[in-house]
Amino acid sequence: MTSSLTAKPAPIALLGGTFDPIHQGHIEPVLKLADTFGWSHVHLQPCFAPPHRPQPEASDQQRLAMVKLACQQDSRLLADDFELRQGKPTRTVNTLHHVRQQHPDASVCFIMGMDSFLQFTSWLNWQQILELAHLVVLPRPGYQLAELPPDLAAELKRRQRVDSELFSQGAGFIYLAETPTVDISATALRRQLAQSPDASRIPLLDPAVLAYIRSHNLYQSTH
Ligand code: ATP
Repeated sequence: MTSSLTAKPAPIALLGGTFDPIHQGHIEPVLKLADTFGWSHVHLQPCFAPPHRPQPEASDQQRLAMVKLACQQDSRLLADDFELRQGKPTRTVNTLHHVRQQHPDASVCFIMGMDSFLQFTSWLNWQQILELAHLVVLPRPGYQLAELPPDLAAELKRRQRVDSELFSQGAGFIYLAETPTVDISATALRRQLAQSPDASRIPLLDPAVLAYIRSHNLYQSTH
């Protein structure tokens, strides 16, 4: 049928992170985006320990295991171990080159929180990233667009699009999502886990992830 030959490939949506551990601040906004855009999948991709940040407390395999457990919340969530499989830190620009090679004609949406967006010009080859993917920026409590550095503010002015325009090309736009904010960070969760070693529920942490954390004795100290 000609329709299947000419159909646009499904968009690729990707949220990278340390996920130390994964929490609902990662999951709830991306599911809202999947509802809005009709995405059938969102890739959640744990990074190999990033060079510019303190090392994660959980191992690579433990962070991946927690992502897999959290993905059981919704069949659209996919644990993606691409960066971990590289066996060394992989920069986002290289990951996106790989995605592009695999899916040359797809729209690629790289999702990040506002905290990451404010620092985006410190990312390796950030301008190239914008040629490889759209950026989808999630609001995050405590991080304001007003703090954007001038060179990125200029890019935003040039590249910002509303949702209906986002898929008219495969890459190059910036979309400021209006998903409900989720006031949580992995840092705050690690502290809470250490301070409440007996808590059977922790808000905004998937119960299966909490059970994994307890059974592997993770996040027991507040250092
Ligand atoms: P940490 O507290 O250890 O820095 P984190 O909670 O920011 O961790 P990461 O794994 O570093 O989690 O985040 C991965 C991506 O998800 C980043 O782009 C980050 O901006 C985004 N993100 C994390 N938490 C939220 C949140 N509550 N709301 C919106 N975006 C978030």
